[in-house]
Amino acid sequence: MSIPRPNLPADARLETLAVRDGLPASRWGENSEALYLTSCFVHPDAATAAARFANEEDAYIYSRFSNPNVTIMERRLAALEGTSGCIGTSSGMSAILLLVMGLLKSGDHVVCSQSVFGSTIKLLHGDMGKFGVESSFVSQTDVAQWRSAIRPNTKLLFVETPTNPLTEVCDIQALADIAHDAGALLVVDNCMCSPALQQPVKFGADIVIHSGTKFLDGQGRVVAGAICASEDLVEQKFVPLMRSCGMSLSPFNAWVVAKGLETLSVRVKAQSEAALQLARWLEAHPAVDRVYHPGLASHPQHALAMKQQSGIGGAVLAFNVRGAREQAFSVIDATRVCSIAANFGDVRSIITHPASTSHGRLSEAQRQAAGIVQGMIRLGVGLENLDDLKTDLARGLDALV
Ligand SMILES: *Cc1c(COP(=O)(O)O)cnc(C)c1O
Repeated sequence: MSIPRPNLPADARLETLAVRDGLPASRWGENSEALYLTSCFVHPDAATAAARFANEEDAYIYSRFSNPNVTIMERRLAALEGTSGCIGTSSGMSAILLLVMGLLKSGDHVVCSQSVFGSTIKLLHGDMGKFGVESSFVSQTDVAQWRSAIRPNTKLLFVETPTNPLTEVCDIQALADIAHDAGALLVVDNCMCSPALQQPVKFGADIVIHSGTKFLDGQGRVVAGAICASEDLVEQKFVPLMRSCGMSLSPFNAWVVAKGLETLSVRVKAQSEAALQLARWLEAHPAVDRVYHPGLASHPQHALAMKQQSGIGGAVLAFNVRGAREQAFSVIDATRVCSIAANFGDVRSIITHPASTSHGRLSEAQRQAAGIVQGMIRLGVGLENLDDLKTDLARGLDALV
């Protein structure tokens, strides 16, 4: 279902689109989106209902597959990502499920970075494997490995950049070229940057995946997701499947994410600037062995990250303390401002021990191979005062020296 769009200038920029696009014509003159908590929509007569169910007339029918709040969120996110279409989903993982169910069939093949979100690997390798979809997992940064993993039946290339928690950056344009040479599509999971920093379609990606749970909401309130792609792809491949499978975004969660998008750019830029300052400060701390943040000159793909991410490293960093689990735990437990949790993208800084949480289900050997050491700490930097965050980390770090 489409809604009339506000009459914005064609060259309106991201910050303007974020607060203006998607706003429907108001019924009562309201300046903020109304909330449409309704399961179904009423039709004026039986013939109109029949026409709407037959897709002969554009109208809202049932909130499993169409609701005004979901449309508003989709419209706004599509505007920010620079795609003509978008479909909201109940979570980031259900966006990836909808993607693979909509585009793949038994016998198809996927090439995926080995450093993507753990549940994405489980979905592709385990769950989709059951349905005859094969996946090859390759190095995030070695383009030659991607090229040699391509098969005649390869349909999708899937990547996340930067990765979490090691912040490895891949060359989106190079992977898009490999995908298109093979007649496949490049999918970029853009959770770590959000469109405020990185718009993957500008570098040739075909589809962008989001967990609205991260920066898009940005205030830790809801679980949500979305696929951004061309309107044709969304209408042909994803909307019909949403209607039959129902991994729907709730109107309330859509409303929350749409409001979150309004402040996305200011939040992500402020949080990223604080993350860079903290990364530099951590790099100079004697209790810290190594810092991972794409904004640091020491980062192996610093130049590429600056090109793809609007010159901004992002709001997530990781660092290894000198020592092992005991030392990492002591730094985490000494904090009084940061939340100990396993999320990021929140206005509240979140501190995580990846080896025992997000990567806890891997074997020690798999973790070593992935570079997730016991002394590693991840920080999703929020909007607290920067000096308060330094004091919070210094409390535990200084004690280790
Ligand atoms: C969190 C996350 C997901 C999954 O999103 P949910 O909303 O938790 O389902 C997918 N990809 C990345 C990169 C994530 O960080």
